[in-house]
Amino acid sequence: MNLAGIDLLAKAPYAEGDVFLGGRWLPAADGRTYPVYDPATGDLIRHVSAAGEEDARAAIGAAESAAAGWRATPPRRRSEILHDTFELMREHTDALARLIVLENGKAYRDAAAEVGYAAEFFRWFAEEAVRIDSSFGDAPAGGYRHVVRRHPVGVTAFVTPWNFPAAMATRKIAPALAAGCPVLLKPAPETPLTALAVAVLLTEAGLPEGLLNVLPTDRAAEVGSAWLGDERVRKFSFTGSTATGRLLLEQAAANVVNVTMELGGNAPFVVCADADVDAAVRGAMDAKMRGGGEVCIAANRFYVHADVAAEFTEKFGAAMVAVRAGSGLAEGVTLGPMINQPAVDKIRDLVADALARGARIAAQGEVPDGPGHFHPATVLVDVPDDARILHEEVFGPVAPLTTFTDEDEMLARANATVHGLASYVYSRDVGRALRLAERLEAGMVGVNRGLLSDPAAPFGGVKQSGLGREGGREGIEAFLETQYIALDWP
Ligand code: ADP
Repeated sequence: MNLAGIDLLAKAPYAEGDVFLGGRWLPAADGRTYPVYDPATGDLIRHVSAAGEEDARAAIGAAESAAAGWRATPPRRRSEILHDTFELMREHTDALARLIVLENGKAYRDAAAEVGYAAEFFRWFAEEAVRIDSSFGDAPAGGYRHVVRRHPVGVTAFVTPWNFPAAMATRKIAPALAAGCPVLLKPAPETPLTALAVAVLLTEAGLPEGLLNVLPTDRAAEVGSAWLGDERVRKFSFTGSTATGRLLLEQAAANVVNVTMELGGNAPFVVCADADVDAAVRGAMDAKMRGGGEVCIAANRFYVHADVAAEFTEKFGAAMVAVRAGSGLAEGVTLGPMINQPAVDKIRDLVADALARGARIAAQGEVPDGPGHFHPATVLVDVPDDARILHEEVFGPVAPLTTFTDEDEMLARANATVHGLASYVYSRDVGRALRLAERLEAGMVGVNRGLLSDPAAPFGGVKQSGLGREGGREGIEAFLETQYIALDWP
């Protein structure tokens, strides 16, 4: 097993089974640990801490102690630390990418791209840290002044998923620190090592102790409840499934905690009759196959105009068959293993259901023999509207294709979902593409582009895909409170 990425942790006094709490590397309070496995081989990577309620509370205390100092730290200094972290992440791209491949499984190419994306949140929010607006002006009725100021919301707690072990953490950490808030992070149980490595680099960049606390654990509910049940936690940001998000929203209600939720998607990918089919195939590969399809904005279902359906199916099928599956670190591999066996079983179930209802496999790639949780790149055609795969998040390398002739009817099908995260439209007519984009119920639309994510743009969903936005000018808002002062003088 290639453990090169773990060397990053050797930069800190990290010992196997430690949490990062109050600037120190310590075992969990009750000393418990759990194993993390490599999804490409099933081999044990390391044991990490199984933090519990006591650690969760201690982390709140550490964050609370650091809050006043950080709030008083000049924004320029906060910005410099974030910028230095950006540089350090870039410098250590290879080691971070290897760590991501090791615990998540994705292809090295995707992991390296993730490190770039994750690092950019530090650059973007380093730039935003010094541009937090306040205002001072006359009350419209005259006679007194309106002062509107922004201040950090306070201790913030994050729960993140395994599909982007670095980026889902930095997308939250960077704006929170930029705004002046201390951070508590519970990474996904499957991918805690990358989050610990990010903590190492932030520390090296000069982040004072207590401002980032990382608690790896397989006792997610215990840590989540301890944070949401404590009134010192003022902001909660979650990325994960809609089901878990709903549960956490209920818990957040008790203390009326301010929440941001990035939940599941069911993105339609629309190919119009006037699309550049080759560009649409390239976009479909990006939107479907990045991270093996284990991406919440992944194209989940395809609506292809009947006039170009044969050409699109043939070219897309050829591209999918050419996908090389294997260990993410092997030369030329573009599809790594899925995160675990239940993930593969769920994808297989969705494919079996579609086939039982009349769908056909138009193209399928190969997967290596032996261990590892692999699923082949697959294109399904003739998928009927009632197939589960059109209504549930696939989270894997399977593309169900359907056709359309009427735009309104296609839009009705595309919008018939409780989700509304991303969607994609391919058309050479920008007027048509924009008209469709505006009518698609989604927080984000890629027009003639299969890659949407950009730290400088607001990421987030409508309907049951979430609440709030991350990245862009909007991203820092989640960590700022507005205070209005009516100012008069005697
Ligand atoms: P997935 O199926 O991808 O694991 P989840 O939404 O369950 O999706 O997981 C996303 C994150 O939410 C992970 O960090 C996981 O540990 C965490 N999580 C799951 N259940 C809970 C819970 N009850 N309370 C707090 N965090 C949870």
